[in-house]
Amino acid sequence: MVEFSKRALNITPSATLSLSAKAKEMQAQGLKVLNLSIGEPDFETPNFIKQAAIQAITQDKANSYTPAAGIPELRQAVAQRTNLDYGTDYVAENVVITTGGKLALYALAQVLLNPGDEVLIPLPYWVSYGEQVKLAEAKPVFVQPSQNLKVTVADLEAKRTDHTKLLILNTPQNPAGLIYSREELEAIGNWAVNHKILLLADDMYGKLVYNGNRFVSLVELSAEIQANTILVNGLSKAYAMTGWRVGYVVASQEVSAKLTAFLGHVTSNITAASQYAALAAVTGDQSCVEEMRKEYEARLNLIYPMLENLAGFEVGPKPEGAFYLFPNVKGAVEACGFDSTNDFVAALLAEQQVVIVPGEAFGMEDCVRISYAADRATLEEAINRIYKFIQTHQ
Ligand code: PLP
Repeated sequence: MVEFSKRALNITPSATLSLSAKAKEMQAQGLKVLNLSIGEPDFETPNFIKQAAIQAITQDKANSYTPAAGIPELRQAVAQRTNLDYGTDYVAENVVITTGGKLALYALAQVLLNPGDEVLIPLPYWVSYGEQVKLAEAKPVFVQPSQNLKVTVADLEAKRTDHTKLLILNTPQNPAGLIYSREELEAIGNWAVNHKILLLADDMYGKLVYNGNRFVSLVELSAEIQANTILVNGLSKAYAMTGWRVGYVVASQEVSAKLTAFLGHVTSNITAASQYAALAAVTGDQSCVEEMRKEYEARLNLIYPMLENLAGFEVGPKPEGAFYLFPNVKGAVEACGFDSTNDFVAALLAEQQVVIVPGEAFGMEDCVRISYAADRATLEEAINRIYKFIQTHQ
């Protein structure tokens, strides 16, 4: 038997990844599985982005190691894109390109945290935050939201100690799709600056905002808040590029240099071809992002009222961004005679072949996450099957 490190023994496997692996297994057996579990756009990567990578490979530009922080033209382009989107004034040296946003967050935890440091993570949270903090031997401190699934300064203050080093704030948020308003962010940003708590802004869904709602990034606020904020973003969601694994960090040159030194021993660089694809994505015509955004918006507007009509589902405030819904299903779980949301979700998969994720993975056991990164017919059929499932069990 291999004796694993305490660190490895402490890892909880990603619930979203294992569920979607299960769904793929059932699909391979010929079952018509409707998979609403995954945080992955169902669109193809836009063609001009693919072509840029193919060209870079055939012209022999993308077949060697690149600088650890990414090719200079991509760092420059990401700084420009960020400045265009947020009105900031970053330069290439502020930017580090990483193997997905996931590695950006992992690497930041490694370079920022010591054992005993505490990291505030608002509930509901993205599955990997807590695990990554634990892998850095620091302590995740989960913060219960008191206001419509969003935390307030009072909620954060109640959990602050002398060891609090960092707050991770994800908006638009996975899994509930909510957006912190400018006022809410200003209050949280000023509180963090006053208490010398670093802010980590996960803006992964910043371009996926619906129905006239507005997303403001922490780095758009005051100079003090911007200086205290490390920005994480990536191309997976907005450009339908999950498999290309392109993420990035925008931060002070001090942080970006340390991160580069760390990554030099971890990945050397992200795949060169992906960097050329990313360059095309961030400098090219942005209408592909808008087309996908509009389709997600139409799906949200289709599926939200359908969920509102499901017995025992409390859908809460309508999501404003990302591509998930996070209803509280306690009523349905109880009415159907299940002991837990996990059992409800497992039976739904076995009986109706619909995959959704139990809220436990996001820190809220009574909820489920439903992704609408699936076409409208699939969404409608999945909700009808959930309806049938509840009818059969009630
Ligand atoms: N942050 C959030 C909130 C996410 O939902 C995800 C992916 O699901 C990521 C970061 C990481 O995405 P990627 O590693 O594909 O860039």
